[in-house]
Amino acid sequence: MKKAFITGISGQDGSYLAEYLLGLGYEVHGLIRPASRKDDALWRIESIRDQVKLHIADLGNSQQLESLVRTLQPDECYHLAAKSFAGIATGDGAAILQVNVNGTRHLLSALNSVAPECRFFFAGSSEIFGAAEVAPQTETTPFHPRSVYGESKVKGHELVHQYRDQHQLFACTGILYNHESPRRGFRFVTRKITSTAVKIKLGLEFELRLGNIEAERDWGFAGDTVTAMHACLNNVEAPEDFVIATGLTHTVGELLALAFGELDLNYESYLVIDPDFVRPKEAVPLVGDASRAKLKLGWQPRKTFEDMIREMVLSDLDYFSHLL
Ligand code: GDP
Repeated sequence: MKKAFITGISGQDGSYLAEYLLGLGYEVHGLIRPASRKDDALWRIESIRDQVKLHIADLGNSQQLESLVRTLQPDECYHLAAKSFAGIATGDGAAILQVNVNGTRHLLSALNSVAPECRFFFAGSSEIFGAAEVAPQTETTPFHPRSVYGESKVKGHELVHQYRDQHQLFACTGILYNHESPRRGFRFVTRKITSTAVKIKLGLEFELRLGNIEAERDWGFAGDTVTAMHACLNNVEAPEDFVIATGLTHTVGELLALAFGELDLNYESYLVIDPDFVRPKEAVPLVGDASRAKLKLGWQPRKTFEDMIREMVLSDLDYFSHLL
């Protein structure tokens, strides 16, 4: 039985990945932060809570991490934990760099010292391309981050390369484009729209305040993204990096029409453009070319954007109706 260790197991991606690996017969261990011990932070893994083993440790504590990895001796490590911010581009830049960069460094160093055969997956981000000059982006597109989060993901990616080249770890980065699901946090625009549309339908809210509705994204389904993570570690002989994307873009406006349409509502009657949420639109859209993943991993996304948004709306409808 293969053993997997997932950092960020209680997040959107961690929960889907844990379910997927359990289905493949893995023994699944997950890292959670001391602050996530409370049950309400573990709602995404509630249904598999007795099938996974949770370990409480701080990614900033290198000794704690090393002793955990030494005891576990995982075959595969999926490093998904990261600090991010959605919506307005503010946040504690130093804390983001501290957790995202040093956490990755500590984990790679621990694996290299006490479990060098373990295969390592790093959740990279399309934010490394930020102000890209070409679209679609591939594994060889130059990095141009325009946020601290993007910068932290570039540094994480460089660490992956360092440990791959200098220490021969099987380490790779999945350059992940936006991926959503009914488990997405409420601040991200997909969930903000589906949940608010439902609340309007139920009479719990009366407007939706958004930023730039011409903004476009390459939105995939998180349940598809996690299968690519597993393929990165299992479907190739040598570690490589892969863009994981749908290759399609949709605008926030399209998302709005779909989500409200599903509830027989016209979004224009409820939309308020709020300067607080406006972020400048990218001159070149962030859209990924996942041809390499298709060719070498045999991976491609399955769920369409339309089906995913519909499922998010229905899931929110179920959730908020029960709160009434
Ligand atoms: P990310 O910025 O790609 O990590 O994901 P988000 O879901 O936060 O944002 C996706 C896109 O939606 C961006 O281009 C935002 O500018 C746009 N957007 C427009 N209005 C909003 C809003 O009210 N909140 C958020 N989060 N994004 C918005």
